[in-house]
Amino acid sequence: MSPAFDLHCHSTASDGELAPADLVAYAAERDLETLALTDHDTVDGVAEARSAGERLGVEVITGLELAARYPGGQCHLVVWLPATDSVAIVDYVATLGDARRERAQAMVERLSALGYPLEWEDVERRANGRIGRPHLADALVAAGHATDRVDAFERLIGQDSPAYVAQGKIEPVDAVALARASGGITSLAHPRTLRLDPDRLDEFVAMLAAAGLDAIEAHRPDQPAEEQATLVALADRHGLAVSAGSDFHGPTRAHERPLGQHGSPGIDPDRAEALLSRLRGVPSDPVR
Ligand code: AMP
Ligand code: FE
Ligand code: FE
Ligand code: ZN
Repeated sequence: MSPAFDLHCHSTASDGELAPADLVAYAAERDLETLALTDHDTVDGVAEARSAGERLGVEVITGLELAARYPGGQCHLVVWLPATDSVAIVDYVATLGDARRERAQAMVERLSALGYPLEWEDVERRANGRIGRPHLADALVAAGHATDRVDAFERLIGQDSPAYVAQGKIEPVDAVALARASGGITSLAHPRTLRLDPDRLDEFVAMLAAAGLDAIEAHRPDQPAEEQATLVALADRHGLAVSAGSDFHGPTRAHERPLGQHGSPGIDPDRAEALLSRLRGVPSDPVR
């Protein structure tokens, strides 16, 4: 059994359903000891989550999930930080609110041109923090343009769909270097979404490792055992740690990715402990 922790989850500071403090309470109810809040392109929820964590006895690690440039899509990097004060990556993501708003507006324009008009105000009010495609999906459903979120993503705003606009201007290697310069520890999130064949993925990971990548997110609840093993082997080939997280977005989506679950077989307990020690800033042997 893996220790009770989750290193990848979202709150209303981006596209999650629970406010940061409610997310921490939800984690406490499930006996999680450690939670990293990793909202898309922001650390704005972290202060609230940390104070809830102090109250409820949950260790809250500062984190974020950065979207980087990637042909035909985006590359997501989960970054855990020692602090949110005075680090370059925090200054950088502070600029991304405007970028995300402009990108969402560009998608609304495309949707309108395709015959699916939305009121911008209706999209914007759905986001408390960083605006993302789930907010657009909900607006599309409310306007009767899609039957549900899945339909909205499949037909309109998914990666291969006509109204999709990529988020993330920073190059992945620059993002990794920025995280490292900020004292952060970086993991390549859900590598499967890069849709690379094994050799290309190996080359991509080698490039990120040279820039200072620390880990591969090998363990997720929606990832079959053989894929987890493939990603552990990938990490080992490049001398990287492995990370585990649910990518939890909220109770209504918990059937896909429940908080605190890492799938089967899940992360090796020794490797989990080594990574957690590193995230806490405790010196330990290199995580392998
Ligand atoms: P964005 O960062 O705005 O591009 O939105 C990415 C987010 O959209 C992901 O973190 C998920 O929360 C959600 N998402 C991505 N693809 C899908 C999908 N096919 N169905 C439902 N939600 C999705
Ligand atoms: Fe998301
Ligand atoms: Fe992601
Ligand atoms: Zn995520």
